[in-house]
Amino acid sequence: MHIKKLVLDNFKSFGRRTEIPFYEDFTTVSGPNGSGKSNIIDSVLFALGLARTRGIRAEKLTDLIYNPGHADGSEESSGPREAIVEVVLDNGDGTLDRAQVVNAAGSENVGDVDEITIKRRVKETEDNYYSYYYLNGRSVNLSDIQDLLAQAGVTPEGYNVVMQGDVTEIINMTPHERRQIIDEIAGVAEFDAKKADALEE
Ligand code: ATP
Ligand code: MG
Repeated sequence: MHIKKLVLDNFKSFGRRTEIPFYEDFTTVSGPNGSGKSNIIDSVLFALGLARTRGIRAEKLTDLIYNPGHADGSEESSGPREAIVEVVLDNGDGTLDRAQVVNAAGSENVGDVDEITIKRRVKETEDNYYSYYYLNGRSVNLSDIQDLLAQAGVTPEGYNVVMQGDVTEIINMTPHERRQIIDEIAGVAEFDAKKADALEE
């Protein structure tokens, strides 16, 4: 399974609906400082529910909505205050099967699961804000998304996303700590935890 496409609409510096295609093997994003490269990564973490606001460099969720005056701190314009990010996953290799998607969506009506679309919206009103998740067009909860992605090996604690600074941290670790990361990636850590639980009982 891999990301096929991102659609950013009013998210952070992307004030216009922007479609970003991803290749199967390797995609790099380049651009000048401040052009929005990291914002693209933030959009994935946001849509897939993989990070808290701090992890995506925002104090509150509504800071993620495009604000034309962001750089100079001037007042935001009126009009719709809503950001939408859509992550289109190519599931052509069957990483997730239909039953898993149906189960997460709570509906048989999920269309073709060769493609899995996870969408998140954050909407700001006069005195409140709302956050919504969708799986292949069906409204779902964050836990549904997280449970589904975990079955494909994508978790908030995982190393699917390696952030700036993580590499330095890994270099500075003790060999034992580094070994724990390898266990985590290899999926061994899960069994160590289960074994420890079993021995305790
Ligand atoms: P670098 O090469 O320095 O890492 P980058 O390409 O990763 O840069 P980002 O951090 O993705 O750049 O983008 C930063 C820009 O995004 C800043 O100019 C900031 O003002 C803008 N930005 C962040 N949030 C918003 C927002 N809500 N509305 C408008 N612009 C925003
Ligand atoms: Mg950056």
